Amino acid sequence: MSWEENVRRAVPYTPGEQPGSADIIKLNTNENPYPPAPSVTEAINKIAPKEYSLYPDPEISVLRESLAGYFGLQKEQVFVGVGSDDVLALCFLTFFNGGKPILFPDITYSFYDVWAELFRIPYEVRPLRADFSIDPADYEGDWGGIIFPNPNAPTGVLETPETVEHIIRANRQAVVIVDEAYIDFGGVSVLPFLEKYDNLLIVRTFSKSRSMAGMRIGFALGSEKLISYLSDVKFSFNSYTMNLPALRAGVASIEAEDYFRKTLAKIVATREWTKKELEKLGFTFPDSKSNFIFATHKSIPAQELFAVLKDAGIYVRYFRKPRIDNYLRISIGTEKEMHALIDFLKNYISCQ
Ligand SMILES: *Cc1c(COP(=O)(O)O)cnc(C)c1O
Repeated sequence: MSWEENVRRAVPYTPGEQPGSADIIKLNTNENPYPPAPSVTEAINKIAPKEYSLYPDPEISVLRESLAGYFGLQKEQVFVGVGSDDVLALCFLTFFNGGKPILFPDITYSFYDVWAELFRIPYEVRPLRADFSIDPADYEGDWGGIIFPNPNAPTGVLETPETVEHIIRANRQAVVIVDEAYIDFGGVSVLPFLEKYDNLLIVRTFSKSRSMAGMRIGFALGSEKLISYLSDVKFSFNSYTMNLPALRAGVASIEAEDYFRKTLAKIVATREWTKKELEKLGFTFPDSKSNFIFATHKSIPAQELFAVLKDAGIYVRYFRKPRIDNYLRISIGTEKEMHALIDFLKNYISCQ
């Protein structure tokens, strides 16, 4: 017998590339092209050296209170973790603990099946319709749990609150997790449903809309009961998950509401401009309410475009997976970056 037989084997998630070079136009990981509010970096700079030698608050009180106030909830309804990937992994561990399979769409965030495999949670996928929307009837039944992003990733498709409510109502026996990583870019949140459904958990992140992927802040909103179960698992794992700079920066970001709204408006305007330009060049895509566009070209294969864009220093994301292997996921960068992308594509397509 070898020690290797006792190893928990995992097939890890593959994140988008983080190139070292500064002159790459990076449209491959849905980061925000704008910096966070100046008050965010000021808050970090104001930390006294002495404060670094102390453990941070294990209750994460200041940030949870700030988020609770912002969303009109109680602090006991807010859980904060090291990016939403950390929060989601803890959610899988905490809530998807029965013998019945959990469900998620066939085309979705590619971390879900990784966590299900890691924690040995049985799961099934349900195919999205041809237009990449969810058929809520697919989620009726006695399942162990449900999870999907809204808007979905990597498609950008937003589901209506009615569709989400249908799924929650059909699954009162299980926890339904709605991953709202991209909701700030024009979606309608299901936040108001928290009053009605104690099995609904909403997960969000500071990484995309709040320009803070590097700080690693994610959070979950739900009933007091759900949050307390989640919190028990966290405290059974690592009490001090959030570092002090992240706590201070998070609070500063929540307080900088004007800056936040202005940044979002810029990205949405650039997204709408990019949609029009891509259409002119022969691309089609499901309408996106996120900070990326999931596009396919009428004649040039996505894999070819991915390669030539990369050679030109423009990184986008390509997934070699069934149903979506002819699509590119293009994050919305600054106006200047998107002009460079469109100019390159115009030139490349006209030479075909
Ligand atoms: C980016 C993303 C996350 C994870 O974001 P964090 O940086 O870990 O907060 C979670 N879900 C979806 C759908 C995402 O696209």
